[in-house]
Amino acid sequence: MSYVFEPAAQAAVPVQGRAEQFPVHRIYCVGRNYVEHAQEMGFTGREPPFFFLKPADAVVPVAQGDTGSVAYPSLTRNLHHEIELVVAIGTGGRNIKAADAQKHIFGYAVGLDMTRRDLQGEMKKQGRPWCIGKAFEQSAPIGPIVPAADAGDVTQAEIWLQVNGEDRQRSNVSKLIWNIGETIEHLSAAWDLQPGDLIFTGTPEGVAAVNVGDTLMGSVGGLGTLSVKIAPAE
Ligand code: MN
Repeated sequence: MSYVFEPAAQAAVPVQGRAEQFPVHRIYCVGRNYVEHAQEMGFTGREPPFFFLKPADAVVPVAQGDTGSVAYPSLTRNLHHEIELVVAIGTGGRNIKAADAQKHIFGYAVGLDMTRRDLQGEMKKQGRPWCIGKAFEQSAPIGPIVPAADAGDVTQAEIWLQVNGEDRQRSNVSKLIWNIGETIEHLSAAWDLQPGDLIFTGTPEGVAAVNVGDTLMGSVGGLGTLSVKIAPAE
């Protein structure tokens, strides 16, 4: 096969304990999946799950023990952090039942759904797509993917984020409105899940702005710590 220009490099995330990387196909994100975050955004938390996507090349893989760098994005004056449990799909499927979801999961990671909150808010108000608020360059920093067998019980894991050493978000994955199996059931009714898909499962309350020079550090249970510094706009 030849192309009219060199295809872009495959987006990929390291896998803990393995030499092979996890090739990213799509990034699905669940909106408002913790009650107290839904409430802080002005909703009840009782609505059915809904989804948006980020491009695969929005990932910024950060090795365990490293501090990644994310450039402050253009156009926004209100860049928000959202710490999330990320589910990595290893076996695709459609119409997957929640009870069968586990066998489709390759592993888990800690991720940040970085958000241009001012632009997202403007798009919401106008009934327009969220892409400009959610799906920009470097909007998905992520730690190494931990294979499911090594991840422990992520369903009861503490999830937290600190900015410059101070607590911003702290909750527990058990507080998800739609749990991992239910999320996969809903997602796979709408899209054919594929190996390489990542699912950002939603963020707990406490989302807030970050500025150039801030260091974000977050974790989910036994999945390690994700550390990112906000760099000046490129
Ligand atoms: Mn989110």
